[in-house]
Amino acid sequence: MKDSAQVVVIGGGIVGCSVAYHLAKYGWSDVVLLERKEITSGSSWHAAGGLFTVTRPNAAALIHKYTFDIYREIEKESGQSCGFHFTGGINICRTQEEIDSNRMMRSACRILGIESHFITPQEAQIKAPILDTRDILACLWEEDGGHVDPASATQAFAQAARNIGVDIYRQTPVIRTTRPSGGPWLIGTKKGEIKADYIVNAAGLWGREVGKLAGIELPLMPVEHHYLVTETIPIIEQLEFELPQINDNETGCYARQEGQGLLLGAYEKTCTHWAEDGTPLDFGHELLPNDLWRMEWIFEMSVGIMPCLV
Ligand SMILES: Cc1cc2nc3c(=O)[nH]c(=O)nc-3n(C[C@H](O)[C@H](O)[C@H](O)COP(=O)(O)OP(=O)(O)OC[C@H]3O[C@@H](n4cnc5c(N)ncnc54)[C@H](O)[C@@H]3O)c2cc1C
Repeated sequence: MKDSAQVVVIGGGIVGCSVAYHLAKYGWSDVVLLERKEITSGSSWHAAGGLFTVTRPNAAALIHKYTFDIYREIEKESGQSCGFHFTGGINICRTQEEIDSNRMMRSACRILGIESHFITPQEAQIKAPILDTRDILACLWEEDGGHVDPASATQAFAQAARNIGVDIYRQTPVIRTTRPSGGPWLIGTKKGEIKADYIVNAAGLWGREVGKLAGIELPLMPVEHHYLVTETIPIIEQLEFELPQINDNETGCYARQEGQGLLLGAYEKTCTHWAEDGTPLDFGHELLPNDLWRMEWIFEMSVGIMPCLV
């Protein structure tokens, strides 16, 4: 392992791999990434991978738009597929208020070159035959919607970063970070020590723990997030095209096709903290225990517009 670098990125999730890639791309010549286990051993591997560009605030919309472009670019540079599904996306509006809110978002995004347009419930039903549109007033259709395979996208960033000179060391947990008398950082691992001018803490779920190594208390707290994946649903099995991403802002529910079924998740109004006293150092690809009932009401509302879930 090298013993010095300009910058050491700690964590090989989507953020760490993207940061390392971008630093090297924009001229940092000596970038090292250290990953505790294998690339994408935190949250990144099992994200739903939803992609959309029509969002708020504008800064977020621009980042989302950039993401679409950069994923296409790193696929070419790395030779690794990101597992793109360009399906388009539908924002459900059940009330006039939601139409107005989507209209504002659409206008704000248009200035940034992000296109979307309203479609009728009937048009939405053609694009997504699983929808029962009786409670739907209108939908905002976004051509640039879909999803990626997040583990593949992370690997693509890692490979593209390696191709432009980033050194990635796996199975290398950082156990110590010190900065003797304001000089360079010393980053300790079981394989040896690296001297670096800068450290990037991209340890995601372990961001607090890595901060603490440098005596920094970060006000971070992981929260639980669940999605469910259904078995094969006959109406989806019969489709000759892939369903678009469906976002129901009123319930906070999102859905997309997974195989011949659906992946259904929800942004809960109140969140449940996880690992309040510290993220276990040996946590990796485990799943949290099922907790379907916590999101029962969200799924009940979803059944109203997607009766195939019954
Ligand atoms: C069920 C679920 C669904 C989601 N769906 C979406 C979605 O559709 N769209 C979306 O944008 N986001 C989604 N997210 C959120 C998304 O997954 C996270 O925001 C993102 O993956 C965080 O990436 P990260 O690189 O910051 O952290 P992580 O992926 O957690 O990576 C951190 C890495 O740091 C490493 N590490 C930790 N400590 C050390 C150490 N001491 N030394 C070296 N390495 C270390 C870990 O091993 C890990 O690989 C979802 C999350 C969940 C849980």
